[in-house]
This record gives sequence, C-alpha cells and structure tokens, in this order.
Amino acid sequence: MTSREECRALDASDELAPIRSDFILDDAVLYLDGNSLGPVSKAARSRVHELIDTQWAQELVRGWGNGWMQGPTRLGNRLAPLIGARQGEVVVADTLTILLAKLIGGALDQRRDRHVVLTDVANFHSDIYIVRAMAARAGRPITVKAIERSTLDQVLGDDVALVMLTHVDFRTGEMLDMKAITQKVHDAGALMLWDLAHSTGAVPLDVTDADVDFAAGCGYKYLNGGPGAPAFLYVRTSWQGIVENPLPGWLGHARPFDFELGYEPAPGVQAFVTSSPSMLGLAALDGALDVWDRATMDQVRAKSLAMTDLFIALVQERLAGLFEVVTPLEHHRRGSQVALRHDQAYGIIQALIERNVIGDFRAPDICRFGFTPLYLRFVDVYDAIEQLVSVMESEAYRDERFVVRKAVT
Ligand SMILES: *Cc1c(COP(=O)(O)O)cnc(C)c1O
Repeated sequence: MTSREECRALDASDELAPIRSDFILDDAVLYLDGNSLGPVSKAARSRVHELIDTQWAQELVRGWGNGWMQGPTRLGNRLAPLIGARQGEVVVADTLTILLAKLIGGALDQRRDRHVVLTDVANFHSDIYIVRAMAARAGRPITVKAIERSTLDQVLGDDVALVMLTHVDFRTGEMLDMKAITQKVHDAGALMLWDLAHSTGAVPLDVTDADVDFAAGCGYKYLNGGPGAPAFLYVRTSWQGIVENPLPGWLGHARPFDFELGYEPAPGVQAFVTSSPSMLGLAALDGALDVWDRATMDQVRAKSLAMTDLFIALVQERLAGLFEVVTPLEHHRRGSQVALRHDQAYGIIQALIERNVIGDFRAPDICRFGFTPLYLRFVDVYDAIEQLVSVMESEAYRDERFVVRKAVT
C-alpha cells in the first residue's frame, strides 16, 4: 500500500515541483478542479495589472499602438507548440462555443454534396447545441447525428461532410486516438474538427502529424487563463484562404481601418478573428502561458499519468468496491482526469468541498477529479484520498444540505 512518505519522496524528486510556486494557491485547499478552471499564476496577475496600469490607464486609445490588434495571432503563435500547430495556424479569441460555430460554419461550406454531420452523443452539450444550430443554417439540408462513438466506423459513409469530436471526454476522461480517427474520417472524404477543451495543456498533442483540419480549445482549463478566458482555434494552413469565417467582422478584414463596406478577409488565420481583442483576457492568458516555458508536455504527461495511476490505485486499495472507475486504465486512452461513478456523487463532491478538497460533479453520477501536474503534488493526491475515505466512512454525503443542487456544479 502506498504511504504518505512515498508520496513525499515522489514530490522531492519531481522536476516540475518548483513550478508550483509560480501559482497563487491556498495550501489548505486541495485543488482537483484545474480541468474546469485553472488557478491564477503570478505572471497572469502581473500581466493584467501591467496592462491596466501602464497601457490602458496611461495611454488610453494610444494603447492600441502596443500591438493589441496583433494579440490574437501573437498569442496563437505562442500557444501553437502546445497543440503541435505551426506558426500562423492558431488565433486566440472569443470563447470555445463561438469558435466551434465559426469552424463548423466554415467547414460546412465545403463538401457541399454531403449532408450529414457526425458528433458524439456523449459530447459536451454546448458542442451539440452549436453544431445543430450551424447545420440548420448551412443553406442546404443537413442532418446532425449524435452517435455512440464506438459506432463511428459503421456510420462514416460518403454522405458525411464533417465529424466533430471532443478528444478527451469531459465526463469520463477517455482520450480518443486523434490520428487514427482523423485518418478514417479523411478516408471517407469528410473533414475533421477536434474539440481540445480537455486536452490542451493536459496531454501532448500534434495536430500537424494527425493531419487535423480544424480544432479549437479552451483558455481557462489546463491553460489557466482565467474565468471565461479567450479560447483558441486552429485552421490547417492548407485550408486558409479557402474556408471562410461565417461570422465576419472588421478585425478579420484585410484592411479594418479602411472602413470599406465590402468584406475582404485578411490573409491567413486572422480571417477567423471577428471583433476587437479582449485585451484583459489576452493579457491574463499571456501571463498564464509563461509557465509552459519551464515545462515540456512530455514532463507534464509523465507526471499526470503517475498521479492518475496513484489516485486510481489508492481508490482501489482504500475504497475497494465503492466506486466504479470510469476512466480507462490504459494510459493511451486516458486524459488527465479521473472519473468515479457513484449514486451519491453529488453529495460526495459537496462533502469533499467542505473538507477543502475541490473536485466536481458531472450529472448524473460522476465525481470528477482533474490532475494538473504544474501545481499539484503527489502528497495532495494522497491527502485527497484520505478525505474521500473519511467522507465515505462517515457517510457525510447523505447530509440533507446536499439534497438541493447548486447552480454551478
Ligand atoms: C469546457 C468546454 C466547453 C466550454 O465552452 P465555452 O463556450 O468556452 O464556455 C465547450 N466544449 C467542451 C467539450 C468543454 O469541455
């Protein structure tokens, strides 16, 4: 059985351990929810303060001279290595659902002889709403099929225009084989859009090697860009200038300050920008990305797997038979979270939060725990399990206070 001392030893030899001090964290809180909202880094905080104090406050509209307009592409280039994209293929703007709308709309203008879009019935609800809405406005009849992803091979025919999947399942933490699936989709003549919300900053990604057409992801989860941080989109170079942004705005125009009434898209991925960059959000994300200069994705992945292995082993040792471990045990199918199924999942998470162990509940019956190697320690994993054991032994989750669900779970 793994001891707390062994966890301490793992922390002592952990190359990523010093990065924890780059974050503002309360040592009394075990934060296993960085997959939902990452914590503040010192660099993110100071970048926002600096932007306000030295640029916005002093320079006012002249502040745009600091390259604010180039913020979406500059940050896109900064983020690109994390997903294996090349320079000039990523922009940071809007939020994820909006960026998915742009990519879906753009993609559906291609493959005009096809009338089916496939997505996963287990996908995040927002993804499903937006794909249905964009398909309904595509200018030709399109059927959106939300399928069980295990049936993809059977459903993928020559009527499919686009496949949109989320790479790491937000509920179960299952990771899909991006390269193999993209290949299959291309073999069927369809286009591939990946949602990387639970992958970016969590697992190594290589959209170039996988020959992905389009992708998008969040800034506020594993990238720690702050609540509602701008999201990012990826458009493979070969699609740029061909696939159009269905939400055109002045900042995607070739000459925004000519105030022309005719729309002419800017060259490259800039065409997918619509509006003025949200500079405070970009500043926070820019600062948040600093920590990635000190860690490689391979280091992060190795520690993530060690942590999720440890958590699962401790659940199996100390809570045997109480939970179903929903997350795949095979490393190549696991993201950076662990999902445990239990009928009383909501109450269990609430009781843990009262004990300063923060995970989250995902309906109907999942306790979800995110493992974020930049700032979590092995000893945190151990201590979280201690609290979970206490919640289960005391049956604290049965408390009547946990009968009514909060608005944000
Ligand atoms: C978190 C998440 C979103 C959130 O989208 P926003 O529009 O940025 O709020 C969308 N899709 C998936 C799969 C997610 O995990």
